[in-house]
Amino acid sequence: MGVTYQRVVLKLSGEALMGELSYGIDPNIVQDIAQEVSQVIASGVQVAIVVGGGNIFRGVKGAAAGMDRATADYIGMIATVMNAMTLQDALEQIGVPTRVQTAISMQEVAEPYIRRRAIRHLEKGRAVIFGAGSGNPFFTTDTTAALRAAEIGADVLFKATKVDGVYDSDPRTNPNARRYQTLTYGHILTQDLRVMDSTAISLCKDNNIPIIVFDLSVKGNICRAVAGEQIGTLVGG
Ligand code: UDP
Repeated sequence: MGVTYQRVVLKLSGEALMGELSYGIDPNIVQDIAQEVSQVIASGVQVAIVVGGGNIFRGVKGAAAGMDRATADYIGMIATVMNAMTLQDALEQIGVPTRVQTAISMQEVAEPYIRRRAIRHLEKGRAVIFGAGSGNPFFTTDTTAALRAAEIGADVLFKATKVDGVYDSDPRTNPNARRYQTLTYGHILTQDLRVMDSTAISLCKDNNIPIIVFDLSVKGNICRAVAGEQIGTLVGG
C-alpha cells in the first residue's frame, strides 16, 4: 500500500458506527473499521481516532427536549466514550494495541488525555482513540478532531461519514447536485456548506490541516485516502 500521510486523525461520526440500525452500534461495522485501521497502521501510518456519539446521544436534541444544554452535552461526551471503548475492543481483538484517552477523567476505564503521551503511543504504532470530545459543552467532536489534529501535528484530517463527499446542494433532493472534488475552507465558511461546523473548519484553516471527506461504508476507503487516491472531497487552502 502506497502511503502519502504519516500521521492522520480519523473522525468517525457516531452515526457511521450505527450502520442501518436506528440506535447504537453495529458490531459488523465496527469490525470492518478495525480491519481497515489495522491495515493502515501495518503500513506504518500513525492513526489517531476521534469518535462521535450521535448514535447514542446528542446534546442539542436533549436541550430541544427541555434539558439543560450543558448537562445534555456532557451526556453526549460520555456517549462517545462508549463508542471509543467498543472500537478499542474491536482493534485489540485483531491484535492492534490501542489506547483510549478521554477529555473527561475516567481513569478506571481509560487514560486521561495527555498530548505528549498520545504522541508517544502513536510513535510506538498504537492506535489512539480520543473519547469525551474536547471535554467542553457547546463543542462538537468535529471540532475536537480538528483540535487534536492541530495538537498532535497530524498531516491530514479524515472526515469519514455516510456521504461520499461535499455537494453544492443536497443530493437526496436534487438529482443535479454536484460533488466537489476540491474545496477551500473559505468557500465552506462563506457558503455555509454543511461539512463540519465552522469552528472545526476555522481551526483547520488556521493550522493548514487538509480535510478529506469520504464515505466510510465503501470498503477500502480509509486505505485509499491514506494512499492519496482522489476520493470524496479534499478541503484545503
Ligand atoms: N460534545 C460536547 N463537546 C465536545 C464534543 C461533543 O459537548 O467537545 C457532545 C455534544 O452534545 C454532541 C455529543 O457530544 O452532540 C456527541 O458528539 P457529536 O454530535 O459531535 O457526534 P457525531 O455527530 O460525530 O456522532
